Amino acid sequence: MKRQSLVDYGAALEATEAEAPAPEGTEVLVRVSHCGVCHSDVHLQDGYFELGGGRQLDVRPGRELPFTLGHEIAGEVAAVGPDATDVAVGERTAVFPWIGCGACGLCARGDEHLCNAPHALGITVDGGYATEVLVPHPRYLLSVEGIDPKLAGSYMCSGLTAYGALKKAIGHGASGPVMIVGLGGVGMMGLQFARAISDADVLAADIDPAKREAALNLGAASVFDPAEENIRRTVMKATGGGAVAAIDFVGTESSMGFAQSIVAKGGIVVVVGLMGGTFSLPVPMFPLRALTVTGSYVGSLAEAREMLDLVRAGKVAPIPVELRPLDEANRTLDDLREGRVLGRVVLTP
Ligand SMILES: [Zn+2]
Ligand SMILES: [Zn+2]
Repeated sequence: MKRQSLVDYGAALEATEAEAPAPEGTEVLVRVSHCGVCHSDVHLQDGYFELGGGRQLDVRPGRELPFTLGHEIAGEVAAVGPDATDVAVGERTAVFPWIGCGACGLCARGDEHLCNAPHALGITVDGGYATEVLVPHPRYLLSVEGIDPKLAGSYMCSGLTAYGALKKAIGHGASGPVMIVGLGGVGMMGLQFARAISDADVLAADIDPAKREAALNLGAASVFDPAEENIRRTVMKATGGGAVAAIDFVGTESSMGFAQSIVAKGGIVVVVGLMGGTFSLPVPMFPLRALTVTGSYVGSLAEAREMLDLVRAGKVAPIPVELRPLDEANRTLDDLREGRVLGRVVLTP
């Protein structure tokens, strides 16, 4: 099989070839038709995430080189192991990549995506920048019937991230308006999932007027510019005391500052964005405002199924996609790093 491999951190990917693995036990070999190139792949290639304030999170440990990136995988079943049931060669599928160890408490309760010994495809075990990928069990294969095959893999990352965050926000309890902070691709999906799973007014905030306009077209009840003077007072007035939840799809000091400032008493801030920075708030404000601040990282296998059902039902507008051949993986990572990609680039191995 052909792969585009990470051979060293901070270096260009290189084409490598290997024997396609023969699936054993419950394993399934998937022939990759599409694999999305995600911004987090840029960080994995670099070997670190920026935390803000000049600090970095080292993401090099736990991976053997050469390594195959790519966690936004769709394809068709090429071969199945002797113990893999309910799966047929030729089936078209999206692959849930956030696979855990299967033995810890987090995995047992269905939160494999939070496992501390992950077998996540394209993150800690070889992923989809390749003609084939090995999946440990058919339960990670999700039907793509009724879903655009070009985007099916990417829904497992950006769609699931947006959906997982919105479930935490809506599931917090109180009814009332919900604020989406940051209208990039994931935030725009978040807006649509919010409308799909709740009756609440969905508000949206972004410093870019074009994105605010786009949010109105996707059904936001009203939009706000977080950089505007007295914006907190404006939102408080418009919402009659604040949003019950704010979901921060940016993840900087200023986006978090805005998000926490506009939630009502008893409200929740869900942090999703990874831009980097440091957030501080006087400790007494947490009890005095009965404020919850929580993080959300992708989503569970169960949430992935629910999310795909919403996509299938037409609740999410498709994002722009550009298809590129596998050997353009490295150029694509460079384009992402330089901010030259609109929507999603998807490789077609
Ligand atoms: Zn991703
Ligand atoms: Zn585990």
